[in-house]
Amino acid sequence: MRLSWKLGRIAGIDVFVHPTFLIVLLPGVLGGSDAIPLILALFGCVLLHEFGHALMARRFGIGTLDITLYPIGGVARLMRIPRAPGAEFLIAIAGPVVNFAIVAVLAAFGFLSLSAEGLSLSQSSFLGQLAILNLGLGIFNLIPAFPMDGGRVLRALLSVGFGRARATTMAARLGRVLAIAFGLMAIFVTQSLLHLILAVFIFLASRSEELQVLSEERMRAHGLSDQSVWYAPPGYHWVDRGGGFWQLSPVSTSPHDRSGSNRWI
Ligand SMILES: [Zn+2]
Repeated sequence: MRLSWKLGRIAGIDVFVHPTFLIVLLPGVLGGSDAIPLILALFGCVLLHEFGHALMARRFGIGTLDITLYPIGGVARLMRIPRAPGAEFLIAIAGPVVNFAIVAVLAAFGFLSLSAEGLSLSQSSFLGQLAILNLGLGIFNLIPAFPMDGGRVLRALLSVGFGRARATTMAARLGRVLAIAFGLMAIFVTQSLLHLILAVFIFLASRSEELQVLSEERMRAHGLSDQSVWYAPPGYHWVDRGGGFWQLSPVSTSPHDRSGSNRWI
């Protein structure tokens, strides 16, 4: 069952918004808050961040199933996670780079408008806040909490020295430690339900992707080719049936509800 609402199709990728997204808008709507344009603009930037990942992945021949906006951020579902550390590094870094580029554009625009006195105070404060939020978003995503972008960058770098399996375990363990720390902060410091949900998501996703990578690496050790590891057709995944026997198995009937671990946040 498809829970998300389709916003449209951009650059050949379907964009969805999850109904829970209304949670972040509702307080503003009820209170008649003027924060709504800022929240919408911020999520526009989150969408651009996800397209940074998706379009960089496309350069490496990796398609994106769809992009969905959640209250905790965006998720791009890539057809696969690249095995080559260089490709993973570039796809991971492309998201935060988009946010830093937005900061640079907003700063340049603000500076030019300020010198021409072309912006009202509220307009410049809106652009200033959006720039600060983007800066925060870029930096936050670079925290090495695998599978967040910073964690993927770390895994890619560690892969060079330790190999993919070991690097994934190291990055995923650090990711879980940071997720626990973030979760405790969400409970005792920021008291934010969204932060807590994000912490739980990172904790579970790090374990799920670690298990997936370890099973892929075991499969490679069994002598299956790279092709058979990576090119399971959409909707299918490889299942270890024991004794070195692997079987292609459908993940789910609906392409949108497939719960693969190729989520890119
Ligand atoms: Zn990202």
